[in-house]
Amino acid sequence: MDMQTSLLDRLFASGLLIETGVDGLYGRSGKFEDVIAAFERLIETFGGDDGAEAIRFPPGMNRAHFEGSGYMKSFPQLAGTVHSFCGCELDHMNLLQCMAEGEDWTKDQQATDIVLTPAACYPLYPTIAKRGPLPAGGGLFDLQSYCFRHEPSKDPARMQLFRMREYVRMGTPAEVQDFRQLWMERGQKLIETVGLPVHVDVANDPFFGRAGKMLANNQRDQNLKFELLIPVTSTANPTACLSFNYHQDHFGSTWGLKTADGGTAHTACVGFGLERIALALFAHHGLDTNDWPAPVRKALWGA
Ligand code: AMP
Ligand code: ZN
Repeated sequence: MDMQTSLLDRLFASGLLIETGVDGLYGRSGKFEDVIAAFERLIETFGGDDGAEAIRFPPGMNRAHFEGSGYMKSFPQLAGTVHSFCGCELDHMNLLQCMAEGEDWTKDQQATDIVLTPAACYPLYPTIAKRGPLPAGGGLFDLQSYCFRHEPSKDPARMQLFRMREYVRMGTPAEVQDFRQLWMERGQKLIETVGLPVHVDVANDPFFGRAGKMLANNQRDQNLKFELLIPVTSTANPTACLSFNYHQDHFGSTWGLKTADGGTAHTACVGFGLERIALALFAHHGLDTNDWPAPVRKALWGA
């Protein structure tokens, strides 16, 4: 049995994660959630005094905003759309018959105005652009959302529905690059505080198709994204648990987001993969939080 399946089976057996029959779609126990809640409080001890505006969006976003973001150019294979039944009574009878006969009842479902959120910050840019130009000094936001990515896997660290906590900075290139640098340093300290080994590397996102190769090269060559990697099921292939993105003026020009002096805003975000961090903690310190090293318990629960 490989290490990924073995960790997943141990998580199911201990009740920390709850099987649903779909790879990457799990229930979470109270103990699992305690770790996530404690880790989010720890994030706030690092970032809580920066004056970020907290906003919570639901895990679905406006389809028009999703279309405008350009996500389908890069990651069509990961996106999830919400479809519903919009037919008449006859269509309903056909649908029930289709289901009864074990046929595909989903083929006539219609797209709704909602798409599952692929990353916590996607709904933010059009929302803030609608307010008008940023104030002097730019903007800083604190987000958390469940996100969807269609990447079914037996690797417990590759879920289809998972939470991302993010800080997002909008402003001049210097403001957003300083923010990203600050969080690359803070992120490493934060993870060291909970007793996990880390290293930071440039990221390799799974851009789709041949055109995607160019996007991936561009991302790497311009250092647009770094990831903080922690071994979860493999030391040779550590898992990206935090990411540090510099979008340049992509979202600024897409949504007409301006700085106070009328320039196109640049944006950057730091994203914490909350389930991945919890899994890294369980994988390194054991499945019973009572047995975790005292300094780790102190950092998370104060005792
Ligand atoms: P990304 O936008 O790909 O950089 O994702 C932001 C963060 O979300 C990553 O650093 C991961 O920690 C986390 N993440 C991404 N994909 C998944 C997934 N399939 N399952 C769990 N966490 C994920
Ligand atoms: Zn983001």
